[in-house]
Amino acid sequence: MIEEAKKRDHRKLGKELELFTIIDEIGGGLPLFYPQGAILRRLVENFVIELQERRGYVPIWIPHITKGKLYEISGHLQKYDAMYPPMHLEGEDDYYLKPMNCPHFMMLYKTQMHSYRELPMRWTCTTTNYRYEKSGELSGLTRVRALTQDDCHVFTRPDQIESEINLMLDMISEIYNSFTLKDFWVRISVHDPANKEKYIGDAKIWQESEAALSRLIEKRGWKHEVGVGEAAFYGPKLDFMAKDVLGREWQLSTIQLDMNLPERFELEYTANDGTKQRPVVIHRAILGSIERFLGILIEHFGGKWPVWLSPVQAVLVPVMEKHVEGADALKNELFDLGVRVEIDSSNDTLGSRVRKAANKHIPYIIVVGDKELGGEDWMVKVRGEKEQLKISKADFIQKILKEIKEKS
Ligand SMILES: [Zn+2]
Repeated sequence: MIEEAKKRDHRKLGKELELFTIIDEIGGGLPLFYPQGAILRRLVENFVIELQERRGYVPIWIPHITKGKLYEISGHLQKYDAMYPPMHLEGEDDYYLKPMNCPHFMMLYKTQMHSYRELPMRWTCTTTNYRYEKSGELSGLTRVRALTQDDCHVFTRPDQIESEINLMLDMISEIYNSFTLKDFWVRISVHDPANKEKYIGDAKIWQESEAALSRLIEKRGWKHEVGVGEAAFYGPKLDFMAKDVLGREWQLSTIQLDMNLPERFELEYTANDGTKQRPVVIHRAILGSIERFLGILIEHFGGKWPVWLSPVQAVLVPVMEKHVEGADALKNELFDLGVRVEIDSSNDTLGSRVRKAANKHIPYIIVVGDKELGGEDWMVKVRGEKEQLKISKADFIQKILKEIKEKS
């Protein structure tokens, strides 16, 4: 297991597979991504974005630097110690790099009037935060100073909390399935009834939402643990712990109820009876940090990406110089259909070009010669299979497109 973990270390694989790098002149904890890594990043991000949009979540956009005033209101300036020092500008307020997104979401909500009919409002933003982590604690993609969150804040009425959480659980379940992270458990953090003065917010909301969290997790049959006294002072929380193929546990998704920020920012909606009420905010991240999630995925798959995630899904290897033109046309055809395909027409022997692609764990390797270009069946080398696959061009295209679509 330890040997395998070393082989799969994402810092090692990140270099070998040309996914990302960290450059001293740019800074520790500030990874840069090569094209193959950036493709992976985009696939993972887009997957979450599409899933959210299908379920009524809408995007917002926020800037990366902000006046200190915002963090005075939110309380971060007084309490949060991972913020970078401010930028001093002549005759201007101090500006800070944002270490989290919640305050921006609150401010944007506050700029408009909201009625009970509009809620729940599900706002999302995939955006980068900057946190000062000690240099000794930085590690590859798993501990960085620039972390991108698949962040979301739902502004909800108290009676909608349960159904909103349920919707989030649906998405978490679908996403873990697609990344084959099937072994996970949930920590339910609730308040300590012996220490009631520690918590703020409506007692009835606490009671009902904690009961709903447990009920929802139990109904799905998911393994869980209840942490009494582990809730934040402003609301109960769910944390998802997932195991990778090597059995190591990682904390991924979080769902956190919040009765504090709506109070601090004086958020309101107009209720059915015309009175002004406070919404409850639910903070939610499914992947957590995209960088960290990619680090986990690199080690989980060990570079053998499922077809839909493979930065290169197929390599075409022309037998001879005269087949390059035909292979090129084929590449364009597959590209047009949305298949990420490369062509290796280097001077190496056919055998060594096939081996090179196989060593990179490319899912499909297709030798392109007279037969293949003449309309006869293809002989496709499938990753992990001893026997080559004999298949017509049309059937191969259908097969790979289906695998991409179904994320298999
Ligand atoms: Zn938040």
